[in-house]
Amino acid sequence: MKALLMPGIFLLLVAVLLHSGWFLPGTAFALYAFWAATIAGVLLSWRFHSSRIFLCLVVLCLAQQLMLHFAGGTAAKASAAALLCAGVLVPFNLVLFSFPQEKGFSFSSIAPATLFLFVQSVIVAVICRPEPLAVAHKLPHHAHVAAPLPLAVQLCFSASVIIFLIRYVLFRKPIESGLLWALAASCLALRFAGTVWISNAYFATAAIILASAVVETSYLLAYHDELTALPSRRAFNDALLRLTPPCSIAMVDIDHFKRCNDTYGHDTGDQVLCMVASKLARVSGGGQAYRCGGEEFAILFPGKTTQDVLVPLEDLRHEIEAGRLRLRGPDRRQLPRGPDRRNQRKAARGRAGYAIRQLARNQAPAEISVTVSIGVATSKLEETSPQEIIQAADKALYRAKAAGRNRIETAASSRRRVRATAGIA
Ligand code: GH3
Ligand code: MG
Ligand code: MG
Repeated sequence: MKALLMPGIFLLLVAVLLHSGWFLPGTAFALYAFWAATIAGVLLSWRFHSSRIFLCLVVLCLAQQLMLHFAGGTAAKASAAALLCAGVLVPFNLVLFSFPQEKGFSFSSIAPATLFLFVQSVIVAVICRPEPLAVAHKLPHHAHVAAPLPLAVQLCFSASVIIFLIRYVLFRKPIESGLLWALAASCLALRFAGTVWISNAYFATAAIILASAVVETSYLLAYHDELTALPSRRAFNDALLRLTPPCSIAMVDIDHFKRCNDTYGHDTGDQVLCMVASKLARVSGGGQAYRCGGEEFAILFPGKTTQDVLVPLEDLRHEIEAGRLRLRGPDRRQLPRGPDRRNQRKAARGRAGYAIRQLARNQAPAEISVTVSIGVATSKLEETSPQEIIQAADKALYRAKAAGRNRIETAASSRRRVRATAGIA
């Protein structure tokens, strides 16, 4: 939600500043701001391999130049045509470039789209060529006066907003929300096309929003696990630095996960990881789950002791045990993908009773369930380092595995047998 709202709040602030009269940047400042934001955005998209953001910035540049050269011009026909072209092509191109999978910043991923934009620019330049005999007429040239956008333009922007909203709901990526708000800022830039400084200030805002979407995406990649959407090990390490006692750490490991991978394949293993992660994300008792790597997770419970977290962890363990992953279609395989599987399947078809076995297998939907083992430790003293708590929780986890899996062990339970590190319960 934060990723969706932040660029919108920024745009709202810019709108309030521009229209309240508190901040009057002037045309030169607005132009510098636009070029500075665009260059920063291009450098970021190159550094973080985002050809989509680069192409969207090129679209903004072309629209800004079109408005600068034609919309404030003296020919009414040219101004109207420029507004119509920019108003249709900006949303169209932004939507078009948002769809393909990101292929990185390479010549092959950028060249075809750049050529397409070049052809568009030539056609638009021909359409918008000012006619010397036309009646002299400018778009409204006063600050705060918006030119009404043609119906076709309004429809294009509305349709694109809906597409970006749907994409955001589906993918929840900062790029989607960045494109949505960059589109809104471009719409305002076109509405105020007659006032060059306001129009450029909105184009600059759109470029800043796109550039920050690149930064936000790289932050998300660094701090979130892409597969499970849980915070990653880096986020876990950051959170450890902020911990103050008392606090509890639970280390969670899926039981016999390798067997699950070997039996159903790696893709199904990934789905199991996502299922477990979705349950971990909803752990009660004020816990925050992280994916530490592979099929290992950690849950931080700031301000909680082992006794406080045992009930939420038992609930979690039960919930994971009760969870079922239904296998459909190609997932319902007994062998991992690859040539061996294809050969074995061919051989199986030849054997007697294959069809009946297939029928029987297809009748009941295959389901997978997994269990987890959990080790918990609590720090009660200031001088206990997070690494010591993690080590104690890991030891408890090994004991849970050794004792038969699908259970919770606490560091406290081993203290009765062996002398434990000071300050760990
Ligand atoms: P134990 O009960 O002792 O924990 O046994 P285990 O099989 O779960 O433990 P082990 O550490 O031997 O196996 C972990 C497996 O997790 C091995 C690796 O192939 C698999 N794995 C690690 N990361 C991923 C991933 O991202 N996706 C999938 N599908 N498998 C993964
Ligand atoms: Mg395991
Ligand atoms: Mg493991």
